[in-house]
Amino acid sequence: MRTLETIREVRDALAPSRPGSRIGLVPTMGAFHAGHESLFAAARAECDVVVVSLFVNPMQFGDAVDLESYPRSDERDAGIAAEAGVDLLFVPPVAEIYPEGFQTWIEVTELGSILEGAFRPGHFRAVATVCCKLFNIVRPDVAYFGQKDAQQVEVVRRLIRDLDLELELRVLPTVRDEDGLALSSRNALLSPDERERAAVLPRALATRDADAARRMLNGFEVDYVEVARFDPPVLAAAVHIDGIRLIDNVVLTKGAHE
Ligand code: AMP
Repeated sequence: MRTLETIREVRDALAPSRPGSRIGLVPTMGAFHAGHESLFAAARAECDVVVVSLFVNPMQFGDAVDLESYPRSDERDAGIAAEAGVDLLFVPPVAEIYPEGFQTWIEVTELGSILEGAFRPGHFRAVATVCCKLFNIVRPDVAYFGQKDAQQVEVVRRLIRDLDLELELRVLPTVRDEDGLALSSRNALLSPDERERAAVLPRALATRDADAARRMLNGFEVDYVEVARFDPPVLAAAVHIDGIRLIDNVVLTKGAHE
């Protein structure tokens, strides 16, 4: 595996593979866990060249404290990615992605402003912009995302359609711990006691009933518990456990997604 920091290096590294090879991209913010690894494994199984980007996108954090406390483990991550058979790990410095004078943004207007978007203004604008940039830098045939971030998937799907981007979107099911909690880099911030309380979130969503889930989450600081008419439809929620914000969702149609 090669670790690259510049756009030029990524383009040069991929040039010999074009045309002809199937290139897969997995965009991430690092602090890898089994959720990320499921995306790497799918990309490895389905593509000739697997590119993983590791970029903690400062623009998608509304809150400086949240950005500051976001877990980082670049060296460990590189080991996990290499072990998973990743070919290129792209770890750009912030200035490589947002050079001085940067001022062009992509806004998925409606989808980006509901649910997560209502509580995190500007979040999906930053997500859509960085994904579009990564798609332009890597020019993948297929990009891999997790159902864990259902609204992100919906935003990226809309972005691909609306801007006629030529790539396939692959969505992999949410990977959970034994207690049902969806794996998330932010789980590392939970104390054992907080973690125990956090496990009510997947149990509430497992009811697949918004009212029942709201009742079970009574007493928690809840941003929303809503049915979202995404593809597939989901029951989605965001709760705060002692200042740590967790999101999760369950698919409401039976099938391949969960
Ligand atoms: P992140 O590093 O948190 O931005 O996540 C990178 C990718 O991994 C995104 O497409 C996420 O949806 C996906 N992902 C994160 N957690 C999980 C999980 N528990 N199961 C499946 N995919 C996940």
